[in-house]
Amino acid sequence: MKRGMTILLSSVVLGLAGTVYVYRGEIGVALMRRVAAKSIFSDTVSTLPDGLHVGFWGTGSPFPSPTRSGPCTAIIAGPRLFIVDAGRGSADIIARMGLQSGRIEAVLLTHFHSDHIDGLGQVGEVAWASGRNAAAHLFHDSGSFHTSPSDAADEASQARVHALAFTHFIPPVPMGALEGPFLGDARQHFSGPLFIASDGDLISLPAGGGELRRRNVLD
Ligand SMILES: [Zn+2]
Repeated sequence: MKRGMTILLSSVVLGLAGTVYVYRGEIGVALMRRVAAKSIFSDTVSTLPDGLHVGFWGTGSPFPSPTRSGPCTAIIAGPRLFIVDAGRGSADIIARMGLQSGRIEAVLLTHFHSDHIDGLGQVGEVAWASGRNAAAHLFHDSGSFHTSPSDAADEASQARVHALAFTHFIPPVPMGALEGPFLGDARQHFSGPLFIASDGDLISLPAGGGELRRRNVLD
């Protein structure tokens, strides 16, 4: 009796394995569609509270880094999405954030150094794959890009900005403990919150004002 049951169960398992093997192509495509739909069509923008959000998606430099993608900053204003620069890995990190490339209204390229634009093709490709059939606006040469921390702190002070975030350090900041020396005397030039941003940092200002909130959506 026991032997009979074992043979029956083995036959069922073998039968199931055989069916999976025969239909492996269809099963693979169905799984791929589910995964692709999740990564391409997920939409974090619609889940954020109304307000102004700045997402530091890529905070790296031209140097390779396992933790920092090429320059890419997202501006999310209510339902509207814009990005500033599109360095290497921008499309990957935009997808990891659950943002739709197809929703990007405009791309502002601060300048044409290769590390600020080398991810642009992939961002466009993913936008097209997610169903976008119109080009996003493209602006370039904003006239404001690399500077030293103390000069940036001076400019921020004069412009009365609320908080100052640094990205794109050359050479890269090797560890958090060395942030102080990399910032130099910037803290003496700017009295507001000041920090070195990491990939995934999201700063939010609620509609109607209030406190700035900072969190990392990759943690
Ligand atoms: Zn640069």
